[in-house]
Amino acid sequence: MTQNLPLKIYNSLTRKKEVFKPQNPDRVTMYNCGPTVYSYAHIGNARAAVVADILFRLLREIYGDSSVVYARNITDVDDKIIKRAKEDNVEIHEITEKFADIYNKDLAAIGCLRPTEQPKCTEYIDSMVKMISLLISKKFAYMSDNHVFFDVSRFEDYGNLSGNNLEDLITGARLEEGETSRKRNNADFVLWKPELDGVGWNSPFGKGRPGWHIECSAMAQDVLNSEGYTIDIHCGGIDLKFPHHENEIAQSVCAHDGAPLANYWVHNEFLNMGDEKMSKSIGNVQLINDLLDDWDGEVIRLSLIKAHYKSELVWTKQLLQESKQNLDRWYRVLKRLSSIDFQFQKETRETLSLAPDFDKIINCLKSDLNTVGAISELESLFDNLNVLLNEADKYDNGDFPISLIKKVSEVKNALEGVSSLLGILVSDPFKWFKRKVSDDDESLFDALAHRREMARKSKDWKSADEARDEARAHGVILEDNASGTTWRMV
Ligand SMILES: [Zn+2]
Repeated sequence: MTQNLPLKIYNSLTRKKEVFKPQNPDRVTMYNCGPTVYSYAHIGNARAAVVADILFRLLREIYGDSSVVYARNITDVDDKIIKRAKEDNVEIHEITEKFADIYNKDLAAIGCLRPTEQPKCTEYIDSMVKMISLLISKKFAYMSDNHVFFDVSRFEDYGNLSGNNLEDLITGARLEEGETSRKRNNADFVLWKPELDGVGWNSPFGKGRPGWHIECSAMAQDVLNSEGYTIDIHCGGIDLKFPHHENEIAQSVCAHDGAPLANYWVHNEFLNMGDEKMSKSIGNVQLINDLLDDWDGEVIRLSLIKAHYKSELVWTKQLLQESKQNLDRWYRVLKRLSSIDFQFQKETRETLSLAPDFDKIINCLKSDLNTVGAISELESLFDNLNVLLNEADKYDNGDFPISLIKKVSEVKNALEGVSSLLGILVSDPFKWFKRKVSDDDESLFDALAHRREMARKSKDWKSADEARDEARAHGVILEDNASGTTWRMV
């Protein structure tokens, strides 16, 4: 048995694949940088969320559901939000609540579990102020012209995560307008800024608002670290590695007397649109919300995990179409499975964990989240199931040999385990083929299926064919099986 293979994960900080060792297996902690909520999230954001979700699900499988604490924040204070609220002439919270809600619904639609904690920045301003005060008192930060900056020259490890050289950063950083006279070093970054358009909180450094980086450092500490200063895993998109994550490390390590912010850093690669990067200037940004109009969330999710998280993912319509075909094929097999009365006995979790098919798939994921390998193992699992169902066709319904029931039962349990690990195949197989159908159409197709079933029973082949042809004209296929006639979209 290979069940006890350890989880190995590529640590961006050490640039090595390492065996994951949590500080406390009863409370494994992970943090993921969440959205700034002033507009819709795009498919690149979705990739980062799905990668973290797969890791979250895997950790829950290994350590137990209640032993993993996953925090993903909501950035609800930001210049862009303030600007948007002003443009739309609405209160800031109207914008942030609306888009936080859309974000959560979009992610739920692509199968992401709700994180254990979802802290909002505006509710943790005190913690940020406390951390900034600490950094000032330890001389890692300084006040200048109503701002507070982090002095990167005081932290010799600055640049370690991103592989940047501190000297180069200090001399080479680009300055935003008006910052030259305020900063000691070009690469210094802001911890506190003066109020903007009346948005600000009182603090020892004047009325103002936090910089983006300090938000995550303060919230990760507050929400995840009940004892000590170090979380187990920090994840996020590669685009956040520098400067955001580098700055998070600088702030946390210096505020906490050298304790690491996170023991493992997990970064997913970019998602590209064909040969191009996705960007507003090219005009090729695809929003999760828009994609959900045309594709089922499971199709989008499967497409996102079809490349290893450390490889770039080329996002095309063809990728989505192929994922749709995969899922259609798998759901067709599941539909076939559920229309046969195998009279399964519910297996216990222990029996499932010994299922070799499940082992193969979880072991792929334990090897640095190898979703590509897991999907290919899943393909073979469905091939096996198809062979077993063909075998079952040789018997009258309900009259199957015990050995066959046992084999099918094993595959079925393995599939349930895989579905909860990968977050796909969670729909009812009958409903899957009826997606995007209005209630009126659904009644019409139900009626046509019923008409054909009755016609076939009374051997009225003409009427049975007519029902089939009429369904066809609506893009619907009627399928005859042991339990009657059902329909699915073409
Ligand atoms: Zn962050």
